[in-house]
Amino acid sequence: MTLLKVDNLTVSFPTSDGVVQAVRGLSFEVEAGQTLGIVGESGSGKSVSALTMLGLNPGADITGSVTFDGRDMLRLSPRELQQIRGADIAMIFQDPLSALHPHFRVGWQIREAIRAHTDVSNAEARHMAVDLLRLVNIPQPDRRVDAFPHELSGGMRQRVMIAMALALKPKLLIADEPTTALDATVQAQLMELLASMQREVDMAMIVITHDLGVVARIADKVQVMYAGRAAEMADANTLFHQTHHPYTRGLLASLPGSAITSSRLLPIVGQPPSLINLPSGCAFHPRCPFAMDRCMREMPSLMAVEGGEDHLSACYLPREMVGVSVAVDTARQRYAADKQGLRAVRLPGVAAAREEVPALA
Ligand code: SF4
Repeated sequence: MTLLKVDNLTVSFPTSDGVVQAVRGLSFEVEAGQTLGIVGESGSGKSVSALTMLGLNPGADITGSVTFDGRDMLRLSPRELQQIRGADIAMIFQDPLSALHPHFRVGWQIREAIRAHTDVSNAEARHMAVDLLRLVNIPQPDRRVDAFPHELSGGMRQRVMIAMALALKPKLLIADEPTTALDATVQAQLMELLASMQREVDMAMIVITHDLGVVARIADKVQVMYAGRAAEMADANTLFHQTHHPYTRGLLASLPGSAITSSRLLPIVGQPPSLINLPSGCAFHPRCPFAMDRCMREMPSLMAVEGGEDHLSACYLPREMVGVSVAVDTARQRYAADKQGLRAVRLPGVAAAREEVPALA
């Protein structure tokens, strides 16, 4: 059953330098209980689209529709949005230190989230807050409930955010860079925690990240974004095994293979474009090793990739021209390792990939 449907969403911000085209014609769906990973570099429109769905971009020019559980989120009143936010859709924000209020104890902040949507007593809400802190594996929850955010570590603050988001068992959880700035061990613990919470309350999730390793661990479906548009979309298995779009290939090739590989990584050359002055045609063409004349003139829409069921890519490149590179094999091995919970995998030298990626005119 489709829980969330985003249709042709466009978000722009008028500024004194020009119009920032943050999101351009974005469409996707999330089924109940499903996890969608949204991946891309900073400024690709990932967070802006999530905030827009929740009515948290009041200064933006917005077109399109966002239908959640049969209701168009873009047409709801502030009061109706308030009833949905926190209860039916919850969000874990990027930086827990700035998302949590520094003047209030974490237990009080969780209680407020509960009492805003239910009529439980203060004492009951405190009891629920302690249970939630226990659920997210915070040690000594009956003591930590009275801690201020600055008294907790980064990992614990993020767990508090997760506890708050899960307080009312939302139908959809949006996690915006939930593991940024955390060390690798805490990252892995938090992603596992999110996955187990998802199973427990049977909610859908949108995980926004620039880390394909995070997506490999948790997502059913992946949407790769570039310059405010969807570049590629497929189920996670297809995206990692039959990568089509050169940008996705670039992201995969720039992943560190493992701690034991001594080969250099393959960065994507150049910088993301200005969203005020976008390149003509395909916005990725100035950085794309496969760019053709047509790419500079025409903007590709998402098209079905030949032979791939539900595999869409905004690229004119025929599948047979994509070829198979060592870099993609590297990411494939990393993906397989992540799926099996393995960390140390010997990988082929990614430097050789430069020669193996077909060079196109
Ligand atoms: Fe590269 Fe052209 Fe595909 Fe854009 S459409 S990603 S420039 S090959």
